[in-house]
Amino acid sequence: MTPGIKPLLAGNWKMNGLAADLNEVKSMISSYSPALHSVVDLLICIPATLIVPACIIATDSGVHIGGQDCHAKASGAHTGDVSAEMITDAGAGSVIVGHSERRTDHFETSETVRGKATAALAQGMQTIICIGETEAERKSGVTLNVLKKQMDGSIPDNWPEKDELGEVVIAYEPVWAIGTGLTPTIADIAEAHDFMRKELIKRFGERGAKTRLLYGGSVKPGNAVELMAIVNVDGALVGGASLKADDFMAIANTYSRIN
Ligand code: PEP
Repeated sequence: MTPGIKPLLAGNWKMNGLAADLNEVKSMISSYSPALHSVVDLLICIPATLIVPACIIATDSGVHIGGQDCHAKASGAHTGDVSAEMITDAGAGSVIVGHSERRTDHFETSETVRGKATAALAQGMQTIICIGETEAERKSGVTLNVLKKQMDGSIPDNWPEKDELGEVVIAYEPVWAIGTGLTPTIADIAEAHDFMRKELIKRFGERGAKTRLLYGGSVKPGNAVELMAIVNVDGALVGGASLKADDFMAIANTYSRIN
């Protein structure tokens, strides 16, 4: 955690979820007590098909709904894609960009991710930009270089200058820890987040000091307390454990214990 920064717990449902699964969103809402709300923000990034009904369910609940990707352009001949404006029009105020599954499966470069982030921020969205090293990169000792390159390439330059732009959130997600049950050591996560914080301050000054830095990669109810207590870890991006309200809310509840 970082003093003065309210943590954000964000779920990423990936390509999972049918209309019936919105019951999980309803359960999350019903266990998001005012006391919990005061210590952690909750966001569920769901498939685009569910954004409208989820936003209706979540109205006035304090739980935020987000998308998992957006196109850099506002509209046009891009079959199958959704724009940032379409996501906000559907009711969601947040979006993930640059998830490693998109960098790998859709060959997205940091330049592509920067374009998407620029579009989302121009819509005033909370924009979660994902970065993280592969297993080979960690083993060859270049993790921090990779993080710097991805941050420099993916975060738009004009973000701090215009107050009307949305919020940038950075999610550090080691690729080898996503969905594998593996996590880096506490010291490795602390080193990465400390590095990210310093880089953000160097580039964006005060706004960099206040940017929320999430950790993602096999966060579960069983490891959340130790992971969320690390300095400069201002929340989590959670995949598998966000699909079930019981698991996701158990992670959220760790904030009542570490505050
Ligand atoms: C993710 O999808 O961003 C993620 C971190 O997945 P998991 O929590 O399942 O490792």
